[in-house]
Amino acid sequence: MKTDFEIAVFAGDGIGPEITAPTVDILRRMAEVSGAYTLSMTYWPAGAAHYANTGDSLPAASMKAARASDAILLSAMGLPDVRYADGTEISPQIDLRKALVLFAGVRPVTIKAGQPTPLNLPAGRDVDFVLVRESTEGLFFTQGRGEVETDEARETLRITRDISEKLFRFSFDLARSRKATGRGPGKVTCVDKANVFRAFAFFREIFDETAKAYPELVADHAYVDATALWMVQKPWDFDVLVTENMFGDILSDLGAGLMGGLGLAPSADIGLDHAVFQPCHGSAPDIAGQGIANPMAMILSAAMMLDWLGLRHDNDAMVRDGARLREAVERVVAEGRALTRDLGGEAGTAVAADAVLDALFVA
Ligand code: ATP
Repeated sequence: MKTDFEIAVFAGDGIGPEITAPTVDILRRMAEVSGAYTLSMTYWPAGAAHYANTGDSLPAASMKAARASDAILLSAMGLPDVRYADGTEISPQIDLRKALVLFAGVRPVTIKAGQPTPLNLPAGRDVDFVLVRESTEGLFFTQGRGEVETDEARETLRITRDISEKLFRFSFDLARSRKATGRGPGKVTCVDKANVFRAFAFFREIFDETAKAYPELVADHAYVDATALWMVQKPWDFDVLVTENMFGDILSDLGAGLMGGLGLAPSADIGLDHAVFQPCHGSAPDIAGQGIANPMAMILSAAMMLDWLGLRHDNDAMVRDGARLREAVERVVAEGRALTRDLGGEAGTAVAADAVLDALFVA
């Protein structure tokens, strides 16, 4: 069992620093109270503002620290007015994803009783599923390299056996651990368009082969269009959904919408040796510096980090603290204790984060 962890923290741009500070504070308090693990959290520079000041969006020292850390906690990066010379967006989080081969984009979708949602959920129906988005290939394979001719443009969708096998194993392992903790029935649904595209038929074949190693779990299939419909009509039916990069990009925003908005949507990008935990939302420059950003997606991402580190290093106290932190946020939101403006309330960032501390340590 490992107990001492190095965390590389990237506070990023826009609202990033405002939601990172209270999250780091909560993690510090939890580790102190627990006594079962230590978190050495070090801030490293990266992002659009850093690029504007120095001409470097992800310094080599920051990359080295990220690679050497046990986990990476990242808020949001990018600013609309700061671009590379070729006009593309500054997104060191995508550079990290590529450099560290973080193939599994994990996007939990949870809706608890009392949580604001556009869905009209039947009484007693909670929603709790996880979307796993492949994050290194698929239709993003030629990102930035698409071919444009006068009257025609082309992008390439790439599916490889190597990454797909890793992705599916990750998804089945996730379903197994969710089943063990009573969070799901142990079902993985491969979301594709295998009826139309050969690449997706290949994706599905690899899924079916991988499923054979998990006879105690259910391996299911669904087309992506039907999945979008069912995410609205019967989202409580899902457990773990696994899909290609572009499909996952779109479905994860649908999932965030079902959860009442981006302010509550956490994520993780996980590979075999590294993982980045960050909220689904961007740097929200329109509200930066006002102290009104919702910190919950960031705090929930930190909860996922505790869970991942604990499971990986046999530290049960950390796994329990990950669940405790997630449940504290769920309680605060469901009871409407300190809702920020994006959720229809009036609370600022500090009040919302304090409410989570209260839910953890007071009542
Ligand atoms: P990106 O392309 O980097 O994802 P974006 O411009 O698409 O960024 P966001 O930066 O996520 O999107 O902002 C979208 C909208 O959601 C903005 O109006 C922003 O203020 C709001 N928003 C995003 N995150 C939060 C948050 N944590 N709290 C409150 N509002 C938020």
